[in-house]
Amino acid sequence: MHWVDVYAEKLLEQGKSHIIESGTSISGQPHLGSAEDIIICDGILKAIIEKGGQAKAIWAMDDMDGLRKIPAQLPKEFDKYLGQPAYVLPCPDGCCGSFREHFTRPFLESLERIDVKPEPISVAQMYQDGKYDEVVTIALTRAQEIKDIMKEVSGSERDDDWLPFFPICENCGKILSTKAYEFDGKMIKYTCKGGIAGKNLIPGCGHEGEAGIRQGKLPWRVEWAARWSHLGVTCEPMGKDLMAAGGTYETGKAICEKIFDSPAPMPVPYEWIVIGGGKRLGKSAGTILTIGEMIDIITPEIARYFFFRTNPASHKEIDFELAIPKLAEEYEIAEKIYFDIDTGLPEKELDEMKRKYEVAQFQGIPENFSQVSYSHLISTVQTAQDWDHILKKLARTDDLSQMTPEHERRLKEKVQAVRTWLDTHAPENMIFQLQMEHPNVEITPEQKEVLATLLSKMGSIEWTAENVHSSIYDTSVESEIKAGQMFKLIYQIFLARSKGPRLGHLLASLEKDFVLERIKYFSA
Ligand SMILES: [Zn+2]
Ligand SMILES: [Zn+2]
Repeated sequence: MHWVDVYAEKLLEQGKSHIIESGTSISGQPHLGSAEDIIICDGILKAIIEKGGQAKAIWAMDDMDGLRKIPAQLPKEFDKYLGQPAYVLPCPDGCCGSFREHFTRPFLESLERIDVKPEPISVAQMYQDGKYDEVVTIALTRAQEIKDIMKEVSGSERDDDWLPFFPICENCGKILSTKAYEFDGKMIKYTCKGGIAGKNLIPGCGHEGEAGIRQGKLPWRVEWAARWSHLGVTCEPMGKDLMAAGGTYETGKAICEKIFDSPAPMPVPYEWIVIGGGKRLGKSAGTILTIGEMIDIITPEIARYFFFRTNPASHKEIDFELAIPKLAEEYEIAEKIYFDIDTGLPEKELDEMKRKYEVAQFQGIPENFSQVSYSHLISTVQTAQDWDHILKKLARTDDLSQMTPEHERRLKEKVQAVRTWLDTHAPENMIFQLQMEHPNVEITPEQKEVLATLLSKMGSIEWTAENVHSSIYDTSVESEIKAGQMFKLIYQIFLARSKGPRLGHLLASLEKDFVLERIKYFSA
């Protein structure tokens, strides 16, 4: 059974109606890993609904969290916000209402392109609107019990006067530098004594002050539990690391059950995506690959497929270079299987592949099978000027007879994706330029002879990719020249380089007369 169905069924055994939560700290451009979190929710949500249950997905924007470091792409004047809650930051480009909006709006718009539409919730707004009044008061009143739970579950000790609250310093605006020490049922006394965030020391201003329960936030583990309880969250995906014994989830669960008297959600552990080269994806990794960029180079359905092809807890690796056509190829196999076309895959894997294909769809499933592969398009788009030209070429290399308007729409998206990939991430050796004039190539007398043989073979074949390939291959077998040398020679006379895409497909996508003229010229 596919993992979305496993989780959906487990949840439905507990109840009919579900709230599935994801959350992202607001500290700049959200990367592919943040998208993963939310897309997992969407898969489970849709499976629950398909099985007759009700479900809603929410996305908590953690904009009350203090900034632990200032993202590199931000202007220098943002340094002053270090340690302050993210919601106070302005838009760095002056184009929208806030820092949060600037980074989350395009992210949510990208997710919408693959039908992932969680309800976004600003955590800062929740505090400010008083939605958390009750849970914050409970946590402050029962601080000692929370401290005991933390010690019991995770072994961590707190000061005697510790309170589960970080007030925002009314003097310097920082939230990462304050220490709360007294609660009178209404107000919280604090000192702005400085704090540590990762490797950064966040200096305090020394201010002694009092804050209300809406002017600050609960510490992360307590806040998580409070949110689960307040919103009735029943399922939450989380990085595997948070699920270690004595870790964040276990602590949050104990607090949720014992302090807030609510069941903790079912966790869905996932592994962080690794980008090619073994780099763990994160904001510190340098390049931020976004879900929007991914959709642009692979089509919405194949992007969705990527997130559902393996269990979230298993290793997931992607680069935006060669992994892209490979991913497309796997999706295309799943598509064939869905339409009962033999792919040679063992019987026992077929149902799983069909379901993966299904989960990747969100605009209906085409009625019949018609497919042009991503890798074919890599060579077709590089020799075609426009859409009509592409269709004309494909008519020679692919079966378009079953194409419906829906297939045409998908094909257009694929063509656009391939073009974008070639422009942005394709490795150098995938990019070529068809030489419209005869390139300057030195041809030996033996090579001329071979080309002449090829010319006569090609002259009589029906112009398909397969026939073109066989005519080249057969010519090399019959003559003394090795197949590798033969292919190299042909790349040279058409592309002025020694490598290129699959030759049968490349040449078949060109006009037969053009190909024959070129070979004739070099064989003479
Ligand atoms: Zn903006
Ligand atoms: Zn301060």
